[in-house]
Amino acid sequence: MSRMSTDPAETATAGTCRIVGVNPATGEDTGWSADTTRPEALSGIVAAARVAGTEFAKRDLDARKAVVRALGAALLARADAIGAVLHEELGKPLGEAWTSEIVTTGELFDHWLGAIDDLLAPIDVALNPLNYPGKQVWLELDAIGVVALIMPWNYPFNLPLRTIVPALLAGNAVVFKPSEHAPRTGALLAEVMNAVLPAGLVTTVQGDGRVGEALIAAHPDKVVFTGSLSAGRKVAVQAAQLLIPCSLELGSKDAAIILPDANLDRAVAGVVWGAFHNAGQDCASIERCYVHRSIYDTFVERVTTAARALRLGDDVGPLVNEAGLQKVHGQVQAARAAGATIHCGGAPTGAGYYYPPTVLTAVPADAAVLVEETFGPVLPILPYDTVEEAVAAANNTPFGLCGSVWGKDLARAEAVARQLRCGVIFVNNCCFTGPMGGAAWTGRGDSGYGVTGSRFGLEGLTVVRTVCVDRTGQKREMWWYPYNDSLVSMARGLVELGRDGASIAERVRGIPLALTGLLNRWK
Ligand code: NAD
Repeated sequence: MSRMSTDPAETATAGTCRIVGVNPATGEDTGWSADTTRPEALSGIVAAARVAGTEFAKRDLDARKAVVRALGAALLARADAIGAVLHEELGKPLGEAWTSEIVTTGELFDHWLGAIDDLLAPIDVALNPLNYPGKQVWLELDAIGVVALIMPWNYPFNLPLRTIVPALLAGNAVVFKPSEHAPRTGALLAEVMNAVLPAGLVTTVQGDGRVGEALIAAHPDKVVFTGSLSAGRKVAVQAAQLLIPCSLELGSKDAAIILPDANLDRAVAGVVWGAFHNAGQDCASIERCYVHRSIYDTFVERVTTAARALRLGDDVGPLVNEAGLQKVHGQVQAARAAGATIHCGGAPTGAGYYYPPTVLTAVPADAAVLVEETFGPVLPILPYDTVEEAVAAANNTPFGLCGSVWGKDLARAEAVARQLRCGVIFVNNCCFTGPMGGAAWTGRGDSGYGVTGSRFGLEGLTVVRTVCVDRTGQKREMWWYPYNDSLVSMARGLVELGRDGASIAERVRGIPLALTGLLNRWK
């Protein structure tokens, strides 16, 4: 994490703040620091990005792919350094940093480099040759322009690349604002991108929400925002006022439903990982778990045992900062005060910003820990009697990012999962598809709108263009001036020829009408 300082002793440049690195595992300064970007500089940065993007878009797709391939290679060559920064800046256990951010990034590049030719290939529009002789019409995806990429801190390496890679392949420029809580990972990413990419193609700006606001005010062509619901609402309003298309990937309160026939070994291990990986600081963390009453006690006991066995630091990192810690603990304390039972965890350890994995039962339905995003290693487990009841409870939230259903009868589990109102559903798994270039990551309701990944994500980074090329060389079209009887005769003939349900006699009658019209018109 980091802290922002306006102390003149720490601030190097007038009008900026100094971001000072803090290790969340200890709460101590790391010695790393950087200046934030001056908000007034953003309009010049966006203008320069537009020039760089326009030039880059002129290169053919193979040339753009070569640049993106070189970027992927350069980033993965720094994998050790990236893992180390993720560990020091956010306290991520190294196993987590490598699997969730680095391995996935290699896959992300592979996916887009392999898929992009097909995804950007022109799409022919079928034309009726009688009505439109000699014409060719097709659709193509054009770069949208400058993409403003405003990012959170929880996956600060992989998450920006989920947009940067397809954006560049499509011929865009990007202005990237890392979170003020993960500036060092952002700076490392910027260092590699600056070394490999054409100047100005991806510009990294540092700072908090004020720099984010200034970036949108500088009028990029697209805003891609990932973050909290509260900031997302402000971003949506600002972008709407400027008529800038915007995608919002926001928070959630994802549910898991454990069916009575679930493979308990897998469901327990999966839910424990789903709730506690990244210290619960994942937009798709399992934050509510509904378990059939026939297996409820066993499930709670086994999850509690597994949660207690997790090692702080090695398996579960710290929360990002003091504010995150207080928010999580506040929800747990309020639930306890309202009668919830705490099976394990339930209080900060006192070391850095660690919060131990916490399992709750008997949580009142209106408790914040069941209603609001927790973003910490806290799992409320609730019993249900009928599947309808479980689905209704899971859907009783304004959020809708992911949901999972666990059961051995796959057809049954899939049918239940389809009833969840969310953008990504899992059967016997959870959370992990976000970094996949080929999968769509998208929410419903308060989890936002827009898509990351897949052809649908690419559509959000491009604009569709219809191209029409006429090869006839004729003097004029049938629908151009002059309007006269032969035009009407020809039109009537064409309709008779093509009309659904027309008899053979009617179609035959259409031929001379169309021909006479054509001859009279062009004789
Ligand atoms: P945040 O909203 O505090 O900040 C996100 C980014 O927005 C930061 O870069 C911040 O500086 C910037 N920002 C804040 N206010 C702004 C404004 N008014 N205008 C422009 N930019 C502004 O979120 P966070 O704490 O960094 O991230 C955690 C949140 O992100 C959680 O709610 C989590 O669920 C969500 N998240 C969602 C996804 C997803 O894919 N749906 C993925 C990761 C994180």
